[in-house]
Amino acid sequence: MNKKIESLVDELREKLIAMRRDFHRYPEPAWTEFRTAAQVVRRLEELGYDVSYGEKVIKEEEMMGVPAADELARRQRRAVEQGADAEIVELMTGGKTGVVAVLDTGRPGPTIGLRFDMDANDLEEAKEARHRPFTEGFASLNEGAMHACGHDAHAAIGLGLAEMLKAVQDELHGRIKLVFQPAEEGVRGARAMVTAGVVDDVDYMLGIHVGMGHSPVGRVVCGGEGFLATSKLDVTFNGKPAHAGGEPEAGNNALLAAATAVLNLHAISRHSGGATRINVGTLVAGSGRNVIPARAQMEIETRGATTELNKFVKERAIKIVRSAAAMHDVGTDITAAGAALGGTVSEPLVKKIAKIARSVPGCTTILERGPVSGSEDYTFFMDRVQKQGGQATYLLLGTDLAAGHHNAFFDIDEEVLPLGVKLLGEVVLQLSTAAL
Ligand SMILES: [Zn+2]
Repeated sequence: MNKKIESLVDELREKLIAMRRDFHRYPEPAWTEFRTAAQVVRRLEELGYDVSYGEKVIKEEEMMGVPAADELARRQRRAVEQGADAEIVELMTGGKTGVVAVLDTGRPGPTIGLRFDMDANDLEEAKEARHRPFTEGFASLNEGAMHACGHDAHAAIGLGLAEMLKAVQDELHGRIKLVFQPAEEGVRGARAMVTAGVVDDVDYMLGIHVGMGHSPVGRVVCGGEGFLATSKLDVTFNGKPAHAGGEPEAGNNALLAAATAVLNLHAISRHSGGATRINVGTLVAGSGRNVIPARAQMEIETRGATTELNKFVKERAIKIVRSAAAMHDVGTDITAAGAALGGTVSEPLVKKIAKIARSVPGCTTILERGPVSGSEDYTFFMDRVQKQGGQATYLLLGTDLAAGHHNAFFDIDEEVLPLGVKLLGEVVLQLSTAAL
């Protein structure tokens, strides 16, 4: 392993922990990462990267599950109050909180992309003595939001890596692209960055996640597998209200349409090609006891072991929703609130990274394959890069957890931060100099 990287990472350790704790203290859920992204921009510019953000890296039409405009505006103001650069935040208006930083060495070589997500969860953080972020004073200051998945660690690792790569710039070849993605939770953000073209020139693409059932620090999975493709759909049935006693026939019952849909959605056939899922997670309908319900809203998700299997369930689901609406003569509005693809990591790249990881002190257990849990919109990056002939993988960095992901007591072993930077630094260095 490169000696410079090894010694530099020890110097970076305290800084990494401080960055992670700063992000942890100011958690921002999907599309509201104004402060986080502004800090990322400022740091990357200080380091001398070529930085793009806002509408240059986010395609507005492809943003899914975006909060209402007034909430976005409130979060934008709060970010500035909490120390974000107002000019940077202004350019992220509307929730365009993605950031891309490029390091061009000027020497021939591959383009290596790395994706780091930055968003927090909609969750109130535990404020109890047994929760270290609380006792050590870096628990969430933002009501109803918490970094309970480790994306604070991802953002810190991304910035630490940026600093590391600058320090070894003379030994690198090709171009390095650091992608900081908003709105991974709910699988809402990746598509808008990928369709903006941010990885169209990438030869090697890497994504990371801490934890996910892998522990302790030192355990590294070089190729995550088992991504479920998924579609999140928001459905509204629009009917017509009427007096339930006086003139029921004049109404169009949205509640009945929704109820008809729910039962039939759960009756979508299993598939011989592999695992599928369907869930109607919420159903809210009606306005009063004696009124024919004019409106019903549902949140649905479909999943599949592959993109094709998910497509099968999703297309059936849409047909059922429309047919149920037709039965009761009500209108429907179906919007995509999130999506992720299936996908498999590139075998040659996994093998290459496993070999590199074996040379990195601190990487004690190196697995080529290991399971991911659920869905990840990183799959959009992976898919795009593989479709244009590049290779992609997803690394899992082990860490002990105080509680599971998305739990109010979630906390990581911060030693995963320096180890992550060391490993990724070495991987980027080796890949950049290896022949394509
Ligand atoms: Zn996560």
